[in-house]
Amino acid sequence: MKILVLGGGGREHALCWKLAQSHGVEVFASPGNPGIAHIGTCLPVTTSYLTLAEEIAADLTVVGPEAPLVAGVVDEFRARGLKIVGPDRAAAQLEGSKIFAKNFFKQIGIPTADYVTVENPAEARRAIDRFGFPVVLKADGLAAGKGVVIAHHRAEAEAALATLTGRLVVEEFLRGEEVSFIALCDGRHVVPLAPTQDHKAVFDGDTGPNTGGMGAYCDSTILTEAQVQHVLDRVIHPTVAATGFTGFLYAGLMMTDAGPKVLEFNVRLGDPETQPLMKRMASDFVPVLMAAATGGLAGVTLEWRPDPAVCVVLASGGYPGAFEAGKAIHGIADAEASGATVFHAGTRLDAGAAVTSGGRVLGVTANGSTLAAAIDNAYRGVHRIAFDGMHYRTDIGRKGLARSTPPAASA
Ligand code: AMP
Repeated sequence: MKILVLGGGGREHALCWKLAQSHGVEVFASPGNPGIAHIGTCLPVTTSYLTLAEEIAADLTVVGPEAPLVAGVVDEFRARGLKIVGPDRAAAQLEGSKIFAKNFFKQIGIPTADYVTVENPAEARRAIDRFGFPVVLKADGLAAGKGVVIAHHRAEAEAALATLTGRLVVEEFLRGEEVSFIALCDGRHVVPLAPTQDHKAVFDGDTGPNTGGMGAYCDSTILTEAQVQHVLDRVIHPTVAATGFTGFLYAGLMMTDAGPKVLEFNVRLGDPETQPLMKRMASDFVPVLMAAATGGLAGVTLEWRPDPAVCVVLASGGYPGAFEAGKAIHGIADAEASGATVFHAGTRLDAGAAVTSGGRVLGVTANGSTLAAAIDNAYRGVHRIAFDGMHYRTDIGRKGLARSTPPAASA
């Protein structure tokens, strides 16, 4: 069976890594990356993904990033009778427009932060006065995780208004732990993936500006079974019933004292959440993806290894701001020899050697018998890698440790 994965980041490398373990599966990716090239065939992006899929006679295509979904790649494939995992263009608006998503949440009663949509800075200032500080400002369109500003005081709000253009969502600041809840959907049925936690802020302790994600982990304690069922009942099933959603529906949740509230929907797998998810998934993913593309998910479940998985992102100096590319990367093979799996995110080959080519460069991912062991194993891999300007968070997974360690007995 030939499977084509669209995209070329860490998420797609992790997905290809998992798919390549299935018996009789040949993996293709477009554009792919130097890591994927070790396990499959990378194809340059030509005029259209559809042409590419037809040329290689792909049996199934899985879409990684949001941009092709928002552009309607699923509609094109289906019109030609090709099997593809992803939402159509209309459903992709749930990620493509924050305003569309917020209005949708309100319309079907999905719990979310209170909000106002504004057309200009004057309206934004009135909305900010209504909510007080901190307040959250969101640009309407796709912004690779960087169109959201949490303003703690007026000067920050004014700075944000100077950079965020067009229509904005101004919303209530929510407190709680964030959870990434991803479900695979076939238009009617839903298979939840294990909950994960991302780390969006660039620096330790969730400080500094937001990034595309500096690391993620997956274990069995992030949500209880009752919480998973609650999210399925209140968020995922109502969305699928209302939209006939197909593909990966990703709810970014804030677990508030008043229950889970949806911060955002994404319409694809998370990056870096996919890296620990693929590391922990015990099931053969290929038949499940095929079922998703053909309306066959009724009764399907996914099995997970008991051992937690952790992914630490190694980023270029300056990221999420401006950064230099083309830095030689050392130690990937050493990190893998230490037991970690190194997923490529922003790398390219220069005279046969890997160099940096993006803000997020590598995702060093490892399992362990406990979350603490998985964290240690991931950082053991991290410490073997070096490139000029490399930076990373040193506290990926720590929130989970607090959860899994029973409180010390009082004297
Ligand atoms: P979004 O793209 O909407 O998920 O926002 C990116 C990040 O901003 C989230 O992962 C949160 O860390 C933070 N964020 C977004 N909305 C809120 C909110 N209403 N309250 C608190 N934090 C938020």
